[in-house]
Amino acid sequence: MTSIDAVVAGAGLWGCTVARRLAESGRNVLVLEKRPVVGGNVRCETDPATGIEIHTYGSHIFHTHLDDVWDFVNRFISFNGYQHKVLARYKGKTYFLPLGLTLVNQFYGINLTPSELPAFIANEASRDVPQGVTPSNFEEQAISFVGRPLYEAFIRDYTRKQWGRDPKELDASIIRRLPVRTSYDVNYFSDYRQGIPLTGYNSLFDRLLNHPNITVQCDTDWLTWKEGEGKALSHLPVFYSGPIDALFGYKFGALEWRSLNFEVERVNCADYQGTSVVNYTLADVPWTRIHEYKHYHPEQKDVMAHPETIICKEFPKKWELGDEPYYSVNNRETDELLAKYKQEAAKMSNITIGGRLGEYKYYDMDQSIARALAVDLT
Ligand SMILES: Cc1cc2nc3c(=O)[nH]c(=O)nc-3n(C[C@H](O)[C@H](O)[C@H](O)COP(=O)(O)OP(=O)(O)OC[C@H]3O[C@@H](n4cnc5c(N)ncnc54)[C@H](O)[C@@H]3O)c2cc1C
Repeated sequence: MTSIDAVVAGAGLWGCTVARRLAESGRNVLVLEKRPVVGGNVRCETDPATGIEIHTYGSHIFHTHLDDVWDFVNRFISFNGYQHKVLARYKGKTYFLPLGLTLVNQFYGINLTPSELPAFIANEASRDVPQGVTPSNFEEQAISFVGRPLYEAFIRDYTRKQWGRDPKELDASIIRRLPVRTSYDVNYFSDYRQGIPLTGYNSLFDRLLNHPNITVQCDTDWLTWKEGEGKALSHLPVFYSGPIDALFGYKFGALEWRSLNFEVERVNCADYQGTSVVNYTLADVPWTRIHEYKHYHPEQKDVMAHPETIICKEFPKKWELGDEPYYSVNNRETDELLAKYKQEAAKMSNITIGGRLGEYKYYDMDQSIARALAVDLT
């Protein structure tokens, strides 16, 4: 590459999509990535012994209803048609999520029809939170949607583990809706376009970045690079998807995140749990879910039949500066802090800030791509 026209800082889905668009519009792009490899939190590694694709930063299932996003990713990869189902372990029994006819009928040992379900749930809900009373916290809000028995079985302890706070201390506005499906559909996502890349997630990034106008440099933190090696290029437009508070040296304080620990285990059996994800809804175990990665590729017959499998227990934890940030903790305090950083960002002329870290917002993969497709490149 002779000259550089733009710098992309961060090679996750957002950064790689922006880089590809810049390259296709004829501009020479330098992509800088802090980690040793590209892919951000969608990065995977393949276990050499079994061929299992391990999702390094937690299970990732691609799903979308956005035509432009689907068309865009399908230029680079094909999907295997995997449809995501999540099971929940509660008091020694296993239930299909999400909340719907399957779960409710099994949980209560009844046989409601689709038309009977809404009235049944409304009746359960009205027992503890009478109509007309405004719920004052997450717990009351959830009970007002589904009733206490379902709340206590599937939501209370899981929420406590996930967010590290009692649901009574969480804001009611966190759950605006808790839809209960009136069908036996146990597909976890309602998007019919779903799947896992046949050639693995890493191939998506390799192909996005495989363009003569793109140069990739890993192990490079743009925040340090711009003060040294990159100083001469400070006039170039930058597309940054690192944390917004890090961009300003955390001068107003650090935005709060939830972090995760993943404990990966090799297990000496072909199939440990019969599905890719099982949630553990109660506080009697410290993990929230167990992932079994081989189930994401049912088309890989040899991998499926391998006498070993790999599982991963997921443990939410408090985030400290330096930990991997996973879920933004959006509340009044962090909203105020974010607004301050956004005000600072608005004063900068040649930087576009995006991605989940830059916007401090949870985005599914399709939303991350959609946001990147909408970025103004001029
Ligand atoms: C546990 C978990 C599970 C998820 N599961 C799903 C799922 O099943 N389906 C789904 O659709 N979505 C899922 N997501 C969401 C998905 O991970 C995100 O949509 C996606 O990773 C966002 O991409 P991004 O580019 O914004 O951020 P990231 O993937 O975080 O990429 C940002 C990149 O920028 C780099 N970077 C940061 N600072 C700098 C710097 N100063 N210089 C250079 N590089 C820098 C980082 O190292 C990183 O590589 C999940 C998210 C989590 C947390």
